Amino acid sequence: MDATSFESMLRTQFEPLQYAIFFGALVLLGLFEALAAMDRGDVARRRRWPANAGLTMLNIIVLGAMPVSVIAVADLAAARGWGLLNQPVVPPLAALAAGMVLRSLVSYGIHVAMHKLPLLWRIHRIHHTDTRMDVSTTVRFHPFEFVVSMPILLAVAVALGIPPLALLVYELFDAAMAVFTHANVRIPGWADRALRLVLVTPAMHRIHHSAWRPETDSNYGATFSWWDRLFGTYRAIPAPEVAGLRLGLAEVRDRRTTSLWWLIGLPFRSLGAAPGGDDRAVAAGTGAGRAR
Ligand SMILES: [Zn+2]
Repeated sequence: MDATSFESMLRTQFEPLQYAIFFGALVLLGLFEALAAMDRGDVARRRRWPANAGLTMLNIIVLGAMPVSVIAVADLAAARGWGLLNQPVVPPLAALAAGMVLRSLVSYGIHVAMHKLPLLWRIHRIHHTDTRMDVSTTVRFHPFEFVVSMPILLAVAVALGIPPLALLVYELFDAAMAVFTHANVRIPGWADRALRLVLVTPAMHRIHHSAWRPETDSNYGATFSWWDRLFGTYRAIPAPEVAGLRLGLAEVRDRRTTSLWWLIGLPFRSLGAAPGGDDRAVAAGTGAGRAR
């Protein structure tokens, strides 16, 4: 199969492929969670899953209703010769590779902005209120997050001239990676270290879900692990500590975090200050202060 027919196959089958990869990974890694969980404590599925499933459904509907797609915009940019990688001097294969790498950098940048800008944090913090983490956390996002990040993604995709094929391949890869990085699975240390040279692993992303703010504000990468290392936001802690991390937000840990209705209104709510302030032992639940 040459590149053109591969691309046309991806285009015609893109949505079914995306769903098959996402739900396939959800089922496969969900089974793996049952067999080899990193955190073997009570993961409170019955309480957490309805809200996570509700947000996943809501986001599928919102994404489906978006009037523009990044692929369509990239097609337009390619046809008009707009953007860096659409310049004739860039060889197609180099444009494809650079396009995928840059697409992952855009994700990293948007995620950092979600944490650093107070207005965006109000939207993104829904994802961090889950006090446990497993495959169901993957699409626990407020629909506003897609509405806010889409225009940024479209603008950057045009400016960089990311080839449509790079976007098609990246989105499918990202669908699998999103489920993988949220999975509560135990991976042998050597395999985690090897994978982490290139990819974000579940142990690496779990630190991002820690309730201790300096850890919440680290490991922003969604697919490639390079950006955190390059921009100094990378954090690693010993494996036994990762498994025992206190996840979620220190500010809110009660039943509200499992109410779909409460989560949808969260951008408009005030959460107050976190108890324990900057105390890592209290917030992260490690060391003497470990508590769930
Ligand atoms: Zn985050």
